[in-house]
Amino acid sequence: MPELPEVEALCRSLDEPVSAAPIEHAGPTHLATLKTVEPPLRALEGRRFAGAARRGKRLLFPSDDGKLVLVVHLMSAGRLRMLPAQKRGPTAPAFQLVFVGGSRLVLTEPGKRKRAGVWLLAPELAENQLAHLGPDALGLEPATLALLCKGERRRLHGFLRDQRVLAGIGRAWANEILHAARLSPFALAGNLDAEGLGRLAEAIDAELRRGINLREQSLSNEDVYRVHGKLDQPCHVCATSIARISFEEHTIYYCPRCQTGGRKLADRRLSRLLK
Ligand SMILES: [Zn+2]
Repeated sequence: MPELPEVEALCRSLDEPVSAAPIEHAGPTHLATLKTVEPPLRALEGRRFAGAARRGKRLLFPSDDGKLVLVVHLMSAGRLRMLPAQKRGPTAPAFQLVFVGGSRLVLTEPGKRKRAGVWLLAPELAENQLAHLGPDALGLEPATLALLCKGERRRLHGFLRDQRVLAGIGRAWANEILHAARLSPFALAGNLDAEGLGRLAEAIDAELRRGINLREQSLSNEDVYRVHGKLDQPCHVCATSIARISFEEHTIYYCPRCQTGGRKLADRRLSRLLK
């Protein structure tokens, strides 16, 4: 699933091309992909985007007259790209905009299940729709993180992934961040001392910036992630084999030496089944 670094890199790459020309034709769109009816999609025709922006894992394309915002959430498998004029695109895109001159913004999603979403909204409605999101994880102040953690009874991995707390981090970057911070994914967020909070704030910032930088160079998961998906591969800090544990439907990757004091955690889903 694309998370903050992936969506931010995409946002930066789309900012200029989506605003280069007005929209000539809006559509077609898959019935399940477009989540709004009013205003109709054709309301975009003749308008121009001011550029691309991001909020958490969502992309925003505001019209330059301030009247409309197109919001795109790629979910786990959506792919959004700009196709130059003349380049052949997919026959059945989940969503498409054609710009004057022929370039296209195309959303595709493989498989029958359409989960990616597109919303066309007035700016104030877009604001309402995004109001449940916590502060953006990129550029988060250490003092804000300390406030968010205060009294928090959840474990760090789930806490970081909750978009209402902090917007932009999913399971892959939670793994990367907690490893960089040398913190256990199961530590309670509210129990971090000042030193732990400092390490976490620093890791959130450094890892998200590292991710954006590498994604802007179009590097693959294999070259971007150092912990996520790296079961049994040597930790890049201490060479201990990366371990994996399933917890609440999620698979967490961590280094037992760097993060959990040498302990390999029991698989809770498994231990529950064995009771
Ligand atoms: Zn390690």
